[in-house]
Amino acid sequence: MLHSGLMLADVARAIELQDLDTRAAQLEKEIAALPKHIAQIERRLEAHQRKLAADQAALAANLKERRKLDGDVQVFQQKIAKLREQMMQAKTNEQYRAFQNEIGYCEAEIQKTEDRILDLMAESEPLEKNVKAAEESLKLERAEVEKEKAEARRRTEADKRALEEISAKRRELVAAIQPRLLQRYESLRRTRGGVAVAEVVEGRCSACRIALRIQFFQDLKADKDVLCCETCGRILYFNPPVEAGESRNENASAPA
Ligand SMILES: [Zn+2]
Repeated sequence: MLHSGLMLADVARAIELQDLDTRAAQLEKEIAALPKHIAQIERRLEAHQRKLAADQAALAANLKERRKLDGDVQVFQQKIAKLREQMMQAKTNEQYRAFQNEIGYCEAEIQKTEDRILDLMAESEPLEKNVKAAEESLKLERAEVEKEKAEARRRTEADKRALEEISAKRRELVAAIQPRLLQRYESLRRTRGGVAVAEVVEGRCSACRIALRIQFFQDLKADKDVLCCETCGRILYFNPPVEAGESRNENASAPA
């Protein structure tokens, strides 16, 4: 920030105070936002973990049912083998047909069971693919979350150190500034959205955008007293534009 050498010391202090307070507010906002950001990415990670756990459970249930059905097929096959042996001993055509019927029933059951096994295998394919992909991406996501948490901790520590430096500087300024101006500054800061000091740019208060009266602007440029915006009340300051290699007349920058 460029300050005119002629600027009143107290106005310069108010500008510096504003600069410190604005930076402190940004740091505090960041310190407050970081845990929220971390909680958000952790919630997302947990949701992905729950989805993976559900897919893993579905896959496990699928495999369990397939194993059970494989067992059922074996039982039916053993039963058929036994029935075939018994059929050889059949004494009558009726008995023979009865064995044949029972074998037919078992074969139909095997067919049904094998169809179900094929369905389950088809269902497990996308599940397996999902689980594998989710395990891979979760590994990356977990690492990313850990990285962001470490970064947030570092950032918060740095922010807190910066805040301490700011409040040390602030204490010095507060001790040096005129008590009445400080009081005004603090009350403006509370009631004007944290902005108590405003630069005059192109003849306007840069905070409320209201054009200054010509006479008021002349008084401000004369730097004899601390002046406050007649509309919003903020402490005003004016930095004459500086152009390299060109010496300018004070009045050259006055608004038309
Ligand atoms: Zn204003």
